[in-house]
Parts: sequence; C-alpha cells; structure tokens
Amino acid sequence: MNRPDVIVIGGGIGGLVAAGLLAHKGKEVLLIEKQARVGGFVTGFTRDGYYFDAACAFVSACTPGAELYNILSELGVIDDITFLPIKDVWNIYPNFDLRINYQDPAAYLESVRVRFHEFSDGFSGYETLTNQLGREFVAFEQAPLWKKLLLPFSFPILFRYARKSHADILERFFGNDPDITLALSALPTALPPSRLSYTFVAVLWAKVLKSGVFYPKGGMRALTKAIDKGIRRLGVNISCGLEVIRVITRGERAVGVTLSNGQEVYSDWVISNGNPFLMQGFLPDRLHLYGRLHRLERYRLSLSAVLFYVKLHKEALPPNWPYFVSITTATDLEAMHGALEAGSMEQGLHMVITTPSLLDQTLAPPGYHSLKVLVHAPRADLFARNYGFDSSFNRLQKQVFSKIHKLSGLDLATHAFFVERATPNTLMRMTGNQQGAMYGLDAACGQVGPQRPPNRTAIKNLLWAGHYTHPAHGIVGSAMSGSFASKIVLSDSK
Ligand SMILES: Cc1cc2nc3c(=O)[nH]c(=O)nc-3n(C[C@H](O)[C@H](O)[C@H](O)COP(=O)(O)OP(=O)(O)OC[C@H]3O[C@@H](n4cnc5c(N)ncnc54)[C@H](O)[C@@H]3O)c2cc1C
Repeated sequence: MNRPDVIVIGGGIGGLVAAGLLAHKGKEVLLIEKQARVGGFVTGFTRDGYYFDAACAFVSACTPGAELYNILSELGVIDDITFLPIKDVWNIYPNFDLRINYQDPAAYLESVRVRFHEFSDGFSGYETLTNQLGREFVAFEQAPLWKKLLLPFSFPILFRYARKSHADILERFFGNDPDITLALSALPTALPPSRLSYTFVAVLWAKVLKSGVFYPKGGMRALTKAIDKGIRRLGVNISCGLEVIRVITRGERAVGVTLSNGQEVYSDWVISNGNPFLMQGFLPDRLHLYGRLHRLERYRLSLSAVLFYVKLHKEALPPNWPYFVSITTATDLEAMHGALEAGSMEQGLHMVITTPSLLDQTLAPPGYHSLKVLVHAPRADLFARNYGFDSSFNRLQKQVFSKIHKLSGLDLATHAFFVERATPNTLMRMTGNQQGAMYGLDAACGQVGPQRPPNRTAIKNLLWAGHYTHPAHGIVGSAMSGSFASKIVLSDSK
C-alpha cells in the first residue's frame, strides 16, 4: 500500500471496528498497533494449557439485531464466533447474597424485588421510570437535530432526568435503604450511586443488557482473533509493533502520522483509538483535540483494576459455583469509592471472580480450572505508591483471598497452585490507557452520551474511536464508537 485513505492508530476494539467497516466500503486502511498483537483490553493469554482473559469477562448486545451483532455481521465475522450465555450470577454482599439470572434483565430485577418484597411499590416505579428513560435516550440518539433541539417537548423524561445520579433515583423510590442500594449498584461501572449517571443505568437496562450477557467460546481472545482475521480479509493492512508518536498536521487538518521508527505516513483521514490525554501532547502546542465544550481537562478517568490469574483443581470450587461471582465487602459504596480515588483499598473491596473453563472446558486441562479475580483499584500512580512493593502487594493478595474465602467459601490461599498478577500499571503499559483506566472515562453524570467527547475532534480529518468517546465504555460502547467514526469518514468523503 502506498498512501492509505485512512490511518487508524491502535487496534483496540474501537480501532479494529472502524478500520474493518471502512475497508468493507472500499477504503484503503492502514492500522498501526504498538503492541505485538491487536485487541487492547480484549485479549487473553495461555500458561501451560490454561487460558486467561487479560481483562474482560462478558459481552452483550450480540443477539440478532443488537448493536454488536450488527457490527460483527457487517464485518462478515458473526459466524466465526459462538457466544455462550452467562445464565447464572452470584452477587455477594456483607449481609446478604443473590443468585440471579443475568440472561434476562427483567428476571434480574424480579430477584431483587422478591428479596426486598416490602419495597414492591418502589420497584414498580423504579422499573417503569428506568425503562421509559432508556427508551427515550435511545430514540434521542437516533432523532434528527430539530427534534433534539426541542428536547423538553420531544423527550420530556430525558430532559427531566438527564442530569440525575443513580443516588437521586434510589433515594426517591427506596429511601436510602443500604441493602437495596448495594443490590441495584452491581453494574459494570465501578461507580457509587452518587457519581453514576442514571441515564447510563437506564440505557444499560433498556439496551445494552436487554438480551443478556455472553462469553465468547474460546475466550475474549477468540473475539479479537475473529475480528482481526475478518478485517484482514476485507483488506485492512495491520502493522503491529510500531507506535505512533505524532499526528502530522497542516494548518488545522490532520494529514498523517509519524511512527516510532521515524517513518512518516500520509493519509486523508486519521482515526485514533489511543489515549487522548497522552495524544494531546502529540499535537503542535496551539492545537487542542477538543473545543471548550469537550475539553479533556473537565473529564474524570475511570478507576483501574488489579487482576489475579489463578489455576486450581476443580475439587477446589465450592458446589454450584457459577461462571460469574461478584463480591462487595463494603456496606458504604460512597466511602469505598472515595478511598479508591484517594489510593486506598482499605474501605472495602469489589471483586469479580470469573471461571471461563466452566463455560468452555477447552480453556483448562481436564479436571482443572483457570480463574480470574478482578478487584477495582486506584489509578496507576496512587496504586504504585501504596501497593507497589512486593510486601504491600502480597498483603493485599492475602486480604483479597481471605475475604473471598470468608464470603464465598472458595479457599484460594490453600488451593491455588499458580497465581500471576496484573496491576493498574500493567494495564497502562499494555494498552496506553491513562493511569490504567478500565473504562477510559467513567460513566458519571456529564460524561455519558452526547456529553462524552464526540468522534469528531476540533482538528479536521482527525477522529477518535473507543471508550474515551461517545457513546460509552465497554466492548459494545467502543465498537459502536468505531462504527460511528467510520460513518463520518464515509459521509464526509461523498
Ligand atoms: C480489567 C477490565 C475488565 C473489563 N471488563 C469488561 C467486560 O467484562 N465487558 C466489557 O464490555 N468491557 C470491559 N472492560 C472495558 C473494555 O475492555 C474497554 O472499554 C474496551 O475494550 C476499550 O476499547 P478501546 O477500543 O477504547 O481500546 P483499548 O482496549 O483501550 O485499546 C487501545 C489500543 O490502542 C493501542 N495504542 C494506543 N496508543 C497507540 C499509539 N500511539 N500507537 C499505536 N497503538 C496505540 C494500544 O496498544 C491498544 O491496543 C474491562 C476493562 C478492564 C481494564
């Protein structure tokens, strides 16, 4: 390839999707990934026949007609991936636990309602409002501009609730009942109710989680492998092991990139899937990635995570152990989050234990399991300061394993015969994400939907794709962002 039409910086899920959809429409695309392989956070690794997902645990919107399904179909890879349903989830809290059917969001809410039957009226109100808001938000996203401008009339519920936090709504329907607050906060966001956007919660229920959650057969790596293979088939030229160190601009237009080996590559469009805080520094001083409304300085990053990758004999798993076990040790989510923001994991832990070999037996040798423990953690610099030494990290591991044992019966300290660990710094090193942020920007009020940075930057022909941008984080949010970026290139090139 001589001069590509489009350069994509980074092969996370957002970059891969943008590149593939553009190649599908006949564009010449060069994707440059700094690691030896693509996938970003959606990847995995094998140790002596045991497979581990590096980060992600589940994916949604992959049933016919849903967002990810449609994107994978357009890339021609939907038949190359089998999605296994995650039917059973065990959520454990300090004073109670819930066995939940995650396949069906209505059944999920019903389990919580049954457990807290004295709040039955509150649940009806909460469910109705959440569904209405979710539906209005989805309609708003697809509405023409004139209808969006008439927000108070066209979308009255969205207008009223767009800036509300989840805490505002939990307060209204359930008072401040601490157990219901815990039960309704087990969402993939790592945010406490006072910070979490209620609109985001509503969209999760109305859209993203609507058709349940799934696990790709063969692990998260299989999802990336299928997309990688599919987009190469469509003609995307993928170059791994090279980092983009500068976006070349002419006036206020992006015209190419400089690579770590000094080479300059020119193109009509540049789409970046990288860390915008870092890449802001790749531009000439006078240029900002975003205008005043979406200035990066006003956004907050999401928290990070610590991960333990564990091998163990199958006898070590307690009976009826499901694929997904979530354990919260705190009774006060606000205090736990405040402490994590300040660098401490002493005010409570939120842990998610997933055992992929329960869903797909080929992922571990017969009679054994590979399991991952994810613990929400402070961002990389604070984590390194407080837990960066072997002694403090070992103490943290002991604390995590001991809590898991006490609350779920799974005794990792005795039975795990292999433990490898990843820190927020590992996440940062492997993907370039700012401070090892799990979700790029968090899903706080003012940071979701149209308020998140858009795909179009302030620099002409430089677009952004992935979880720092509209619409949101996660595999589905990032894939959708990649799809939106590809549509901008196609419509502007007409
Ligand atoms: C521990 C953890 C658990 C998670 N669990 C889930 C889950 O269960 N389900 C879910 O949906 N989401 C989950 N997420 C979130 C999800 O993984 C992310 O939101 C999503 O994968 C981000 O995709 P992205 O396209 O923004 O790219 P990223 O994954 O951030 O990848 C960016 C890519 O760009 C490359 N790159 C960066 N800069 C450059 C450069 N200058 N030159 C070349 N290449 C560059 C990087 O190497 C990387 O490959 C989890 C995240 C973490 C960390």
